[in-house]
Amino acid sequence: MKKPSFKLVIILLLLAMALPAVLYFTHQPANAWGFWAHKRINRLAVFTLPPEMIVFYKKHLEFITEHAVDPDKRRYATVDEAPRHFIDIDRYGAYPFEELPRNWNEAVAKYTEDTLKAHGIVPWHIEVMLARLTNAFKERNENRILRLSAELGHYIADAHVPLHTSSNYNGQKTNQQGIHGFWESRIPELFAENYDYWVGKARFVSKPSDNIWTFVLQSAAAVDSVLNFERELTFSVNTDEKYCYETRAQTIVQTYCEGFSEQYANMLDGMVERRMRDAVLSIGSFWYTAWVKAGQPDLNNLQQIPLTAQEEQEQKELEQMFQKGEIKGREHPNH
Ligand SMILES: [Zn+2]
Repeated sequence: MKKPSFKLVIILLLLAMALPAVLYFTHQPANAWGFWAHKRINRLAVFTLPPEMIVFYKKHLEFITEHAVDPDKRRYATVDEAPRHFIDIDRYGAYPFEELPRNWNEAVAKYTEDTLKAHGIVPWHIEVMLARLTNAFKERNENRILRLSAELGHYIADAHVPLHTSSNYNGQKTNQQGIHGFWESRIPELFAENYDYWVGKARFVSKPSDNIWTFVLQSAAAVDSVLNFERELTFSVNTDEKYCYETRAQTIVQTYCEGFSEQYANMLDGMVERRMRDAVLSIGSFWYTAWVKAGQPDLNNLQQIPLTAQEEQEQKELEQMFQKGEIKGREHPNH
């Protein structure tokens, strides 16, 4: 029998190596900030709260933590969900994007609702969620307070991720596919245990809209660094120093090598940690603001109103659709 040519062996080897890579990059769970980081951020936000709030939130720490990822799961259930997680702000000119009205009605009048939704609505959705949470506090509805707190936390955290403010959200326009998960999942999973999470106390936010646009613009201002440093580093190393193989749940997956990740994190000079810290403080501050605006209700004495049949149904569908795993709306799993 003829020996397989060297070239054929190499091709087969490359194919064998490429397969798990494809599997990994196409089957990452829907995870803005990564599920891990979202949960961690919500959890930490509880510890920024004042005494009148912290006892209640601590009692429900597991709920606030686990439900931090519900909005991402909902992207499997409804097509309206996807735009709430991002804004492709570069569609509206150059930084600081002054041509985009910060007020929703003015923005709709200028661009139409369809256009705004196509490019993402996270800043405005955070305002909506803040109003809903304020109402839940006024109603003293425990279930709703918890659910809306967890979900508001999610959207605020997303808005702190630079690539959630760019149309080049996964480096797809610059041949840097995978960078979304690299920045917000891989880096935190490797290094976030050692971050300093002492972020101080939640503050009352007197102008929520201004505050939201401030952190959205901070994210937008960081996009160039996120992309440029990765490109620079990629040019300076061999491919096998960039991508490594790891076994996860008995599957070999391709991921960014630890050394490469560390060099990238160093170039970013603490950016991921800063954005995580800022997200934690913003979330605590928005929860606190909703509570103050609602007249500081006593959280030891809330109404135990069971979920409505509709809410219960929605919760069930959320899990079912998530398990099925088909994203509605924008395809990319990480946005
Ligand atoms: Zn999200």
